[in-house]
Amino acid sequence: MTLSDLPALRDVIATHDLAAKKSLGQNFLLDLNLTSKIARMAGDLSDHDILEIGPGPGGLTRGLLMEGARKVVAIERDERCLPALAEVTKASDGRLNVITGDALKIDPLDHLTSPIKVVANLPYNVGTELLVRWLTPQTWPPFWDSLTLMFQKEVAERIVAKPDSKAYGRLSVLAQWRCDAKIVMEIPPRAFTPPPKVTSSVVHLTRLEKPRFEADWSVLEHLVAKAFGQRRKMLRASLKQLHPDIESILNACDILPTRRAETVSIEEFCRLANALKSARA
Ligand code: SAM
Repeated sequence: MTLSDLPALRDVIATHDLAAKKSLGQNFLLDLNLTSKIARMAGDLSDHDILEIGPGPGGLTRGLLMEGARKVVAIERDERCLPALAEVTKASDGRLNVITGDALKIDPLDHLTSPIKVVANLPYNVGTELLVRWLTPQTWPPFWDSLTLMFQKEVAERIVAKPDSKAYGRLSVLAQWRCDAKIVMEIPPRAFTPPPKVTSSVVHLTRLEKPRFEADWSVLEHLVAKAFGQRRKMLRASLKQLHPDIESILNACDILPTRRAETVSIEEFCRLANALKSARA
């Protein structure tokens, strides 16, 4: 059996009785042209191992394999999907390794060889947590070269947002400080079974070799969390717990203390993080 001989995904779901479970964030993509298109958004796969979270009945997994992935390691929590995935494994020429369990608890690096790309239609309930983990490893560069991930459109917009917009926040700074991030596709609810309430977007993040601007991560993270924790307040108020003389530090960084977090660029946040670090030393 080859990949192109596998049954249609609608039949796979019926044969294996894979009624979607809301608690597991299950909205399946059944159109293999679409899943191949998503796989292509990750660029050339032939010289990379791919980590996929939540393969479900295997639609995106098949796309990744058809588009020539060197190897796919797919972590799926729902054991009901395993027989369907076993059929894909058989047709994969040894390129698919399915691991059963919770992606939040499994270290995928035991199964992957560098270079690595991550491609996934993420379960909504763990998607942001996984993204934040991938963006905040102990050392940079991380284990992956790029992340190609499907989110609810509103989350995708937060990841790529620029200053002076409502969507700009902690996730934007986190993502864009050390990555190039762009939305590469929009996918309407009708493409999924069952259709979700909202539109989805695919975001492609490419890691930078080093951060865009120099800063100490722990200081920057704390600063950004405080600033956006009270995003409607002026910086002199939202940041006052960070230093007794925060107003002078802001002025010394050429940042007006009356500005609000959503107007502050990543470069300015980094400048402020460096000044705070020196002021505390
Ligand atoms: N990749 C498939 C597709 O595109 O049709 C399914 C995507 S569906 C949005 C999310 C998948 O993630 C489901 O198969 C679900 O069972 C799985 N999942 C949910 N939570 C998980 C977790 N913590 N670890 C691994 N997989 C999980």
